[in-house]
Amino acid sequence: MTHAELLAIERQHLWHPFTPMRDWCDDAREPLMLVEGKGCVLRDQHGHEYLDGNASIWTNVHGHAHPTINAAIAAQLQRVAHTSFLGFTNPPAIQLAKALVDLFPGSKLTRVFYSDNGSTAIESAARMAMQYWQQNSHPERDTLLSFDRAYHGDTLGAASLGGLPVLKGSGNDFGYKVVCIPSMESLQALPEDTVSRLAAVIIEPLIQGAAGMRLWPKGMLKQLDTWCREHDIFLILDEVMTGFGRTGKMFACEHEGVVPDFIALAKGLSGGYLPLAATLTTERVFNGFLGEGQTFYYGHSFTGNQLGCAAALASLQVFKDEQVLERLPAKVATLTRLLGSLHDHAHVLDIRQCGMVAGIEICRAKSPLAEYPPAERTGAQVCQAARSHGLLTRPVVNTLILMPPLCVTEPELERMMSALRLAIDDICH
Ligand SMILES: *Cc1c(COP(=O)(O)O)cnc(C)c1O
Repeated sequence: MTHAELLAIERQHLWHPFTPMRDWCDDAREPLMLVEGKGCVLRDQHGHEYLDGNASIWTNVHGHAHPTINAAIAAQLQRVAHTSFLGFTNPPAIQLAKALVDLFPGSKLTRVFYSDNGSTAIESAARMAMQYWQQNSHPERDTLLSFDRAYHGDTLGAASLGGLPVLKGSGNDFGYKVVCIPSMESLQALPEDTVSRLAAVIIEPLIQGAAGMRLWPKGMLKQLDTWCREHDIFLILDEVMTGFGRTGKMFACEHEGVVPDFIALAKGLSGGYLPLAATLTTERVFNGFLGEGQTFYYGHSFTGNQLGCAAALASLQVFKDEQVLERLPAKVATLTRLLGSLHDHAHVLDIRQCGMVAGIEICRAKSPLAEYPPAERTGAQVCQAARSHGLLTRPVVNTLILMPPLCVTEPELERMMSALRLAIDDICH
């Protein structure tokens, strides 16, 4: 099929996530069709090259078509692609579980439950926490606590934990009880009869991604952990975005020396190559499901997928082979320096950075402050303009996101930043 034929079908039959489809179908511009990738570079149907500025929606870790990950997937494919994890096990899933537990040496996180994506990793944790109390003498603990502007995924259950109204759909709590609060202070002010009904607290540690890369105050995670310990309430960390080096350490919780009762991993788990997720938890939680007739009634068809687990093992191997974490501080410093060059820009209101994750908030004017109305989709226009300067990324409303694969080089970071600056100038004059 020619590219033109493919795009004719695209316009006729496809429906894209988080995409205003009227604009997409109306658009005189032809859709960008990505056909190849290598490292941080992606190539479109015409052979144009772009830097992958948001790591393919926050997933890619070591770059595209990495030889180690490609070879591991190909080798696994020769053996078998997928077998059921309901009643069977498989070698890559076993090896990966050990490798994941070993990333938390000597900690209480010793059990691995697989699923397919970030939303299901979160739901697994939430449902384990609630069922645990149900069958372990505290059936009244049926409520989950989350934070304003949180994002934990799009399935009904995960969305109900979210604190961004537009992403909650109907705004229902979809049948289970969620208390949503803005800050640590409001947690400390919760009435005792609410606290006594909490099964777990869930948070994106250090930084809220979909809220526009919003940073929590330093030390807040540690305080939250201490509060949870004092009240014997489970702490669920959503490291779907922050996991696997994004924040400068393997996991965000390491920055504050916190080990949660549950950690949800997805996006970067397979290096960003295949849909795979894991929920890690403790022996205490696991033991709470060992009573007569007890089962965790939850699971998906592709749980423990062999190809995905092989990719994840290879990704962890690349972390070692290429000393990825050891080489991050220099890259983080370069990113900080380059972001600094935008500070005085007339249309840059705020710059937020956490390791290799950056959010650049744009505005019409700084003083007096004039923000762009969300309906004008200025952030999206800037990202569209960035394409013609060789950069692919996607905003959160008026916050431009820069979150390259960890393999990004200093020259590539410089090119990304200059493309972004040119795009801001193109749109915000
Ligand atoms: C992306 C994301 C999710 C949802 O993951 P999916 O794989 O898209 O279901 C959950 N939490 C956070 C923090 C995320 O960034």
